Amino acid sequence: MEKVPRHFFFDDAFVEQAYTDKAFPIGEGQTISQPYTVAFQTELLNIKNGDKVLEIGTGSGYQTCILLELGAKVYTIERQKVLFERTKIKLGDMGYKARFFCSDGSLGLPMYAPFDKILVTAGAPFVPKTLMDQLMIGGILVIPVGDEKVQIMTSLIKTGADTYEKQEQGAFRFVPLKGDQAW
Ligand code: SAH
Repeated sequence: MEKVPRHFFFDDAFVEQAYTDKAFPIGEGQTISQPYTVAFQTELLNIKNGDKVLEIGTGSGYQTCILLELGAKVYTIERQKVLFERTKIKLGDMGYKARFFCSDGSLGLPMYAPFDKILVTAGAPFVPKTLMDQLMIGGILVIPVGDEKVQIMTSLIKTGADTYEKQEQGAFRFVPLKGDQAW
């Protein structure tokens, strides 16, 4: 996290906020996640060098950069076109290489599945089966699940073709995951 300059993700007027442990608006009604939350989700994913990771909710691209720094191959989906385009250009300028998609992440990316890890960075009403199906055996899905106000950080480890070990840890508040298998 020390390698990724978080102030690059802020408008000039708000740069002094970049190294506080807070979420912050990034436009289009969305937020860059709080550093603590980024660290928490990243730790649960237990990223190994070369892991193929699907991230849902590109947003500012900050979390994407953290995954890339850990050696992951990142496929990231954003449903809002403005954010998708802005972040794709920004990360390119910074020298970060991810694969960017503008689509409904609640459906995952069936054409590129399976993934070692799947990370959802928006609050979901339930765990979409579509995403569970796109996980490799031994893979990990991290997703905050709850109502609009509070979500429980949930991780599912895929232990077999259709078996999962579920762990829940801590309450968080994300912007909503919107889409076919979401709100
Ligand atoms: N990881 C981001 C957090 C962004 S907030 C960061 O570090 O900045 C969550 C993002 O999820 C928002 O940009 C929102 O537009 C996006 N989102 C919500 N529902 C989505 C969906 N179904 N598919 C893809 N992106 C979605």
